[in-house]
Amino acid sequence: MMQPLGPRKVLGKPVPRPARTAGVQTYVPEIARGVGIVVKHFLRNTKEWSLGQSPEPVLESINEGINTISYPEQRRPYPERFRGVHRLTQREDGSPRCVACMCCSTACPAQCIHIDAGEYPAGDPRHGHEKYPVRFVIDELRCIFCGYCVEACPCDAIRMDTGLHASPYDSREQFLFEKQTLLGFPGRDGAQDSSNQKADPGDPTHPGIDRAHHGHDD
Ligand code: SF4
Ligand code: SF4
Repeated sequence: MMQPLGPRKVLGKPVPRPARTAGVQTYVPEIARGVGIVVKHFLRNTKEWSLGQSPEPVLESINEGINTISYPEQRRPYPERFRGVHRLTQREDGSPRCVACMCCSTACPAQCIHIDAGEYPAGDPRHGHEKYPVRFVIDELRCIFCGYCVEACPCDAIRMDTGLHASPYDSREQFLFEKQTLLGFPGRDGAQDSSNQKADPGDPTHPGIDRAHHGHDD
């Protein structure tokens, strides 16, 4: 048979309730204290702002005081190695440096690069030696921005140095960046080519190979 419960044991030291004085009941002292804190911060921030003593939140650290950044007009600078939206680098004639070798799409762990490879037309010195991407699509929504595609590319044809992050589009299709879009993005320095030189087949300044010259000794 269950025993009846005895009186509850009180553990620790009980804290007495504050007395219900007129100040506690009317909230006036606490309201005055809160207003005092607001006014103190207002005066201090205004003084630092007018004397130029507050840190610049865009270029300096976030600190005490006014730290308002008017995004997107003002932005904190991204680190130099920030991986942004992809771009495809161009050759001097504006064609993609990409040779559709599929190294990037093979390396991509998110499988978000799709390439259709094609042959340059007959008569082009690159015909028979290099391919080009007839279609090159990156699904920026699936991308995990790991940078493996950039590392895998043997031609410096794909980069993530645009300094951009994908805009918040309202449909999935808008995140599928096609070749022309990717070719249109400049790097952060404004360049659309690559600083790494690339000699095309038949380039007289470089002993490359083409249909007539099949090796460096020809
Ligand atoms: S950054 Fe990574 S996930 Fe994105 S396309 Fe390149 S390899 Fe794929
Ligand atoms: S971007 Fe580079 S790795 Fe990818 S297919 Fe083109 S050449 Fe190959």
